Amino acid sequence: NAFAALGLAPELVQAVADMGYTAPTPVQQQAIPLALPQAGSDAFIDLMVCSQTGSGKTAAFLLPMLHTLIGMQAEAAEREKAEWQARVAQALARGEPAPKKPRRKNPTDRRNFKPAVPGALVLCPTRELAQQVAGDAIELVRHVRGLRIATIVGGMPYQMQIARLQNANLVVATPGRLLDLSASGQVRLDGVRFLVLDEADRMLDLGFADALAEIHLQTQQRQQTMMFSATFAPRIQQLAMRVMREGGAHAK
Ligand code: AMP
Repeated sequence: NAFAALGLAPELVQAVADMGYTAPTPVQQQAIPLALPQAGSDAFIDLMVCSQTGSGKTAAFLLPMLHTLIGMQAEAAEREKAEWQARVAQALARGEPAPKKPRRKNPTDRRNFKPAVPGALVLCPTRELAQQVAGDAIELVRHVRGLRIATIVGGMPYQMQIARLQNANLVVATPGRLLDLSASGQVRLDGVRFLVLDEADRMLDLGFADALAEIHLQTQQRQQTMMFSATFAPRIQQLAMRVMREGGAHAK
């Protein structure tokens, strides 16, 4: 499978094969290797991609993002395991009984409420697009354990979205509703390391410029930004100048 040659995790290569993708589309071929962590460093490149709907752009940003989240999750699990083993060893060395593993708290119990802190965020102009992108992400992680995806869109009941949001690693959202939930303390955006602006031109058309500026401010610590747009109009270039680091790669 030609996706394996791009350096993607085997779980993702299996998922695209299940979905019947035999070869990457041109935008996937160009963007995926640039969006993955660069060999020999932990650095990520910011990407501005000009592409149309139907080009395979969704998988072009989801695959590298999910690949990196899988790697981060594996590292976190290793770290947790090592810390736990050290605690058990210390207790035994002191002649104490081995500590008991804490019970997982029920996230739907109000008393256990903690704001969600997703590591990756995809912004979409419309509810329909956000739901489609989240659906693709869910299909792509079918062979991955424990990666959670939540959708935050307007016009849907808050309560259900908030429940799904707890422990989400990737959030797919429309900008307005996301900022509502951030303002009310349901979600914190300062853990976002990877940000995608999907159909950035349509987000500007729909009046989301201020919301995007605010989300940019709330996610200052991010490591990578990818912008997808059907056009390279001056206002898109201005947005790119604002939200992307200098020296980002360009792909078309
Ligand atoms: P998009 O441009 O992301 O909206 O994708 C358009 C359609 O192409 C979607 O139905 C995808 O499932 C499909 N698609 C994306 N990548 C591939 C691929 N590499 N091979 C075949 N179909 C694909």
